[in-house]
Amino acid sequence: MLPGPTTIRQCNECNRPFLERTISSGNTFGATLWTDGRMYAPMLPDQKWLVKCPNCSALLWLDEQHRVGELGDQRTAKSDGRLRHFRSPSSRDYARLLSRETSALQKERYIRTRLWWAWNDGRRRFFRGAPLKRAARDNLIRLAQLMDESVGSDRLAKAEIMRELARFSEARALIAGIDDPLLTDTAEFIGGLIGRSDSRIHTIPSPRASGTGRSGPDRGGD
Ligand SMILES: [Zn+2]
Repeated sequence: MLPGPTTIRQCNECNRPFLERTISSGNTFGATLWTDGRMYAPMLPDQKWLVKCPNCSALLWLDEQHRVGELGDQRTAKSDGRLRHFRSPSSRDYARLLSRETSALQKERYIRTRLWWAWNDGRRRFFRGAPLKRAARDNLIRLAQLMDESVGSDRLAKAEIMRELARFSEARALIAGIDDPLLTDTAEFIGGLIGRSDSRIHTIPSPRASGTGRSGPDRGGD
């Protein structure tokens, strides 16, 4: 992984600056990919859209915060040492934000995807057979409504949601309609789990390594 410049942004809420580390290139070697789309990649840090201000704790859409400059710029150098990096929202933060009105569907989809992953985190290694909590089920049902079945990756995500909800016949029908060759391996793996009526979270065997250039799989075309 090659780090890129560290950007300085100004929080819209408290007007104080904070840092955003960027990468110039990365890859998925050694990555672990889960059926719900969550990926842990040592050479590719998670790229967040929604972050938390380290100064005032406001939840901020990163691209809506004014870009002040880069770390090391002449005009910001005096205060560089005092700047802190943004923080990651917790599942509680995501849930709280959803309870307010979220008019932009791409944002709602992002938050619900992050919430899906965050609530699944406890079921990945431990408590693997634990049933989904009511709020997690409600989140998945709404997230499925936001997926476009005519887009292969959305269709696959929706199939996985139905599988996790133990709605196996719906999951099977969605998997059957996936014809994107890039998704075939994952679709077959999830299809096998559906065939065994398995609604637990799994890692997808041998993810194919690939370079970056992505804007984030859950972020859509914003
Ligand atoms: Zn702030």
